[in-house]
Order: sequence, then C-alpha cells, then structure tokens
Amino acid sequence: MTAPGTMEMRTYPYPQCDHDSAILRVEMAGVCGSDKHIFKGEASSIRGQSIFPYIGGHEVVGTIVEIGGNAARSMDFDHQPLRPGDRVALAVEVNCGTCWYCRHHYNNTTCDNQVMAYGIHPNADTAPYLRGGFAEYMYIMPGTSLFKIPEELPTDVAVFVEEMAVAYHSLARATQPFAAVKEGFGPGDSVAVLGNGPLGLLHGIMASIHGAGLRIATDLADLRLAKAREMYADVAINAARTSPEARVQQVRELTEGVGADLVIESAGEPEVFIEALDMVRKGGTVIEVGNWVETDKTVPLNVMKHIASKNVHIHSVFHCGTNWRPVLNILRQQAPRYPFAALISHRLGLDELAAKMGIVTNPNECVKVEVVPHGAPGALPRRQR
Ligand SMILES: [Zn+2]
Ligand SMILES: [Zn+2]
Repeated sequence: MTAPGTMEMRTYPYPQCDHDSAILRVEMAGVCGSDKHIFKGEASSIRGQSIFPYIGGHEVVGTIVEIGGNAARSMDFDHQPLRPGDRVALAVEVNCGTCWYCRHHYNNTTCDNQVMAYGIHPNADTAPYLRGGFAEYMYIMPGTSLFKIPEELPTDVAVFVEEMAVAYHSLARATQPFAAVKEGFGPGDSVAVLGNGPLGLLHGIMASIHGAGLRIATDLADLRLAKAREMYADVAINAARTSPEARVQQVRELTEGVGADLVIESAGEPEVFIEALDMVRKGGTVIEVGNWVETDKTVPLNVMKHIASKNVHIHSVFHCGTNWRPVLNILRQQAPRYPFAALISHRLGLDELAAKMGIVTNPNECVKVEVVPHGAPGALPRRQR
C-alpha cells in the first residue's frame, strides 16, 4: 500500500538468509481491520511515523524455505527444532528485550522500542523489504518468534492464531477477579459482542469456549450476523436498523433487567465503547479491543454515569501476546465444534487483493479475507524436502 486507497503490485529482490534469520514462503495471510482502516485513509501513521509504503499482512502462516543454523535451534518460541518444510505461524512483534516492559515480561508486547511489527512496519523501500505477509516470501529477522504448527492443524485454521490470541487475552482479562461472586466473567454469564467482524466473531467463540450463557451479537451487516448465529450467537441484533438506546433496552430485557455481564467492543468505533458502558450491568466487565488504529475520532463520556456509578471493570486489550502454543491447542481442540475455516469468505491471490480492496473494505460483502500468494493451500501441509 503506497497511499490511502492505493495498493499496487511491486517486485523486490529475494532476501538473503544468514545464521540467525529465515526465509518464509507465505501460504496464507489474513487481512486485518487495521489494513482496512489504513486503506480507507482513517489512519496513516503508526507510532508517530507515516506507514507508507508498507507491505500489509501480519496474520501469517508460512513454510520455512531457508533457515540459519542458530535460528533453527532458537527461533521457535517453544524451542522446537525448525527445518525447511516446517509450517509456522509468525509472532507479529520483535521487541527490544531491555526496556521496562520487556524486562518485566509485561504482556510480552508492550515494548517501548519495538524493533519490528511484521505487516504493520513502515517503509517497504529499504532492504530486506519483505516484512509483510501480502507477498510470496518474507524475510524473518533475528529475534523473531515462530510457532511450529501441529501436522494435523490445517493452514486455514492455524491462520486464525494471531486474532484468536487477542481473544485469548481478552477473555483471560475478563475472568478477573472472581466470577463466583459476579466480579469477573465466568461460566453461565451473559456476553454481548458489539461488532462481529472476524475479531468479534472469534471473541464470541472464545467466550463460548469459556462457557458463556446467553450470547448476544450486534453488527451493521446481516452477512456477519448470520455468521455470528452460525458460530455462537443466541441473539443477533442489526445495529443499522436499531438505535443504541433500543439495543441497550433489548439486552436489559434479556438479562433480568440489569444488562450483560460482559460486553466486548470489537466494532472499532469510539461511540460503540460508550454503548458497551451503557449495556453492561453494574459491576460487570467491558473489554475494549476494537479501536486499534489512531483515527483522531473522540466521543463524549459522562464519567459519573458511564463509569463511577457502575462499579465497572474495564480492560483494554491491544496485543496478541507472544505465547501462542495454548491458542494453537485451542484451535486444534475446538475445530470440530467451531468451523473456523468457514469464517473465510474470500481467498485472494496477490493481484486480486489489489483489485478487490473495494470488497475487502465492505463489511456487507466479506467476513474474513485471506491472501493466498501461491494459490489456495491444501487443507494439509505440503512438505518441501
Ligand atoms: Zn490484526
Ligand atoms: Zn522492549
């Protein structure tokens, strides 16, 4: 992407691999809400720096084609040995390892001096260029964490690990401090997921895995509400045809008049955070996970009404963490119950992606869009020996 609304095909030199790095053949890379915001011109900088030109794609599953000796021993997060032909998921962020957050292992990814964020890293014009998943190959720099994918986990399920890791962190936070006295989310509790793009859908699934009771979904697009019903939702409310007040009222009526135990804001619009605060019961929990890119949009907040008087737990979740092994286990265990690959509405080649950003940015036309730079990968891994 070279400017808002402009995505084009470019050719870059094939990168060089040394002892500490690797080259990945991209099998599948998800298009994220952040790519859509940037394409629509709603955000043009990341951490104060212009993002253009950049190669998007941070939800990546690839096959190792080259790997240096040191990297082969240490690049897998769990130190499983790696070799060419292995399928891996790619941790988005490479951190400095020395700042306060890194030294305290705080949330793994809050680093003050981040070295790399694959697929969100500005400047595709400096070597080694290939830092995003919307490409045939990627250069994997020293210090990156990879996660070897279990043989039996298909690529089109494993590719959800990054977004599912966000939901994993969200629900882990929402369960604090102690559900049995109704302080924190627990089995049987009600949940409302506001915004059912891929991230919201995965949050609804993750809440269900945690044993959610009544599950409510809202979205502007019927296509996505149908997907929510198929995957987890007991009640689906179209937000294009109802007012925020009517939705809050409907949720109260469904929850003994008090409001939802847990409300997840995954629409990525600031005003939906206010709706979440209106919708949650007193002492309930709100997770803010949707507003990820800086769009300069603000909303008025009545501190007394929305926060102080509600005794509410509010958690924000900005990162997916770097420990994905439990999330891969969840995907493998839950795949028979939740058909994750059915979330994928489009599988596009690189040239198609550039041509179809109109569809990709229209929530009425797509759910999850995956980029397949080498054509659709089979359900089972292809070994390259
Ligand atoms: Zn993402
Ligand atoms: Zn750091």
